[in-house]
Formats: sequence, structure tokens, C-alpha cells
Amino acid sequence: DVCVLGSFMKDLVASAERRPLPGETLHGTGFAEFLGGKGVNQAVAAARMGAGTAIVGTIGEDRYGEEFLELLASNGVDTSWVVRHPSLGTGVGLPLVLPDGGNSIIIVSRANAAITALDVEAAREVLTSSKVLSVQLELPVEASHAALRLASDAGVTTILTPAPVGPVDPALASYVDILVPNEVEAAALTGLDCDDESQVPMIARKLAEDWGLRACVVTLGSRGAYVLDRDGGFEERIAAHDVATVDTVGAGDAFCGSLAASLANGADLVDAVRLANAAGALSTTVNGAADSAPSQAAAVALLDG
Ligand code: ADP
Repeated sequence: DVCVLGSFMKDLVASAERRPLPGETLHGTGFAEFLGGKGVNQAVAAARMGAGTAIVGTIGEDRYGEEFLELLASNGVDTSWVVRHPSLGTGVGLPLVLPDGGNSIIIVSRANAAITALDVEAAREVLTSSKVLSVQLELPVEASHAALRLASDAGVTTILTPAPVGPVDPALASYVDILVPNEVEAAALTGLDCDDESQVPMIARKLAEDWGLRACVVTLGSRGAYVLDRDGGFEERIAAHDVATVDTVGAGDAFCGSLAASLANGADLVDAVRLANAAGALSTTVNGAADSAPSQAAAVALLDG
């Protein structure tokens, strides 16, 4: 089974012709709300890709929290490890989207920021009995660190999506088996420039060595993914699927959730990356965050052409 430790973010998206000036109130041109947060996105993706999935995280005792519990339950995700904070509300994201697709985003972590290493300790049972743990960097680092340590010590395969990217404690890095950065994150973590894709293998090798990884999978957006399997001793560039992309939000999470699900179900790393590459592509054909993750059947159909 898969366990995801991560964030819950209710996105309230406004569209407008331009950004408001200081002090200005501006009429927007559109509005949409989505359930997201990297943790939720990955958990829904993993469940839809056919893995028993549980999520660990913190929400508020509010309406948005209820919406998350409904979405997760309707996707078969075990929410019994979700903590409801008595006073802090559920996390929110407030993106402003401009006509050219550019955006500005305010996120307010709220309950997400309250999760502690003790909360993680309380979820020891699910963290240590899963086959795969997937973690991102949207929660306080103490919580991510504690979860990775518990799982790693129990022999659980650990996956880290290093987003949002920042300096990573080498102690935390030592508990990661598989690192899944996008190109920008991979470059930031090594301090190397990534001007073009030819540098990706070198950057992945450096990350694998510095962190002592089993594997490094770099996602390349509309160009697919690159996998370096240190255990298996090989590397492979996997081409993207040609799909009708409308919204790339959550593509990386659909990819990681799918990767975790396949590995939990016993797939080889490269096969798992191939299917994740299909899942990531399909997620870009639908608007939204968590709800844009595809079904296993759809991803398999795309992969098999
Ligand atoms: P992130 O969302 O973290 O920035 P990427 O943009 O690298 O991550 O996307 C993650 C994965 O989703 C890619 O490796 C690829 O498999 C798939 N993907 C993303 N954008 C596209 C696209 N335009 N066409 C096809 N596949 C895509």
C-alpha cells in the first residue's frame, strides 16, 4: 500500500486581465475552486492508479476540511490518520491567473503548518506498514523528516518530491530512496545550471551520489522524464506522450502518485516511470488539481497506445 504525508490546500482561483495595483479593487473575469495541495493530489493519484492509499496530514474543523474528506473517501483513500486542528482552518491557495496563463499565488498553510513530529509519530503504524511512503516539502520539515525516518527504518520505500524546493538537511536526504525533482528543482538542489536537457543525466547522477539515493527520476514536463536507477545500474530517457494539454497544475503530483502506486504493487522502477509518464500526461488534459489525476485504465490505455 501507499502512504502519503502531505498538504491539503483549497484553491480559490481568480482570473483577471492584469494584476491589481496597490490599493486597487479590480473586477475579475472568472472564478474556480479546486481541491489540491501536493499531499492530496498524490494520494488521489495513487488511489486511482490502483493502490490501497492512506494520507497523513492536518486540516481544520471547517467546510473545506469536509470537502477534502469527501473527495478522499470517494476515491477510496483512508483518511483515518488525518488530524483536524481545533482552531486553525484548512490550508488555502489564492492564485490569480492572467490571460497569458501566467499567475501569482498566495498560499496560507493554516492547519498544514501545525503538523508536528509528534503527530507523525502518532501515525507510526501506517507509516511503517506501507510499502511506499511519498513525501513532499509543503509541510514543516520536522514532520517530513520524522515520517521519512520512521518509514526508512522500517524498510519502507521512500519517495521525496522536493517541492517547494529549498535547502535540504543531509540527515533528511539520507532517508530518501527515490528522489523525483522536476528540472528546476534538480538544478536548484545541486546548485548546477540546467540550461538544456543534456545536463539532466549529470545532475541526476550528482544528486544520486550526494543523497545516497537508490534512484533519481527527473520530470521534464512536456518532454517526459529521465530515470537513473542506481540499484539496477542503468538510466533511460522516456519520451512524453502527445496529449491535448489544457492545465499542467498537478502533473508532477499525478506522476509521483502513480509512481508510488506502481512500486507498491510490485512494478519495476522503469515500468513504474513509464506508467507515471502516461498518468502525468493525462492529468494535463483536465483542469484542476487532485481531481485531474487519471484512472489506471486510462493511463494503461495511453501507454499501450
Ligand atoms: P511539475 O508539475 O512538478 O513541474 P512536470 O511539469 O515535469 O512536473 O510534469 C510531470 C510529468 O507530467 C512529466 O514528467 C510528464 O510525464 C507529464 N507532463 C507534464 N506536462 C506534460 C505535457 N505538456 N505533455 C505530456 N506530458 C506532460
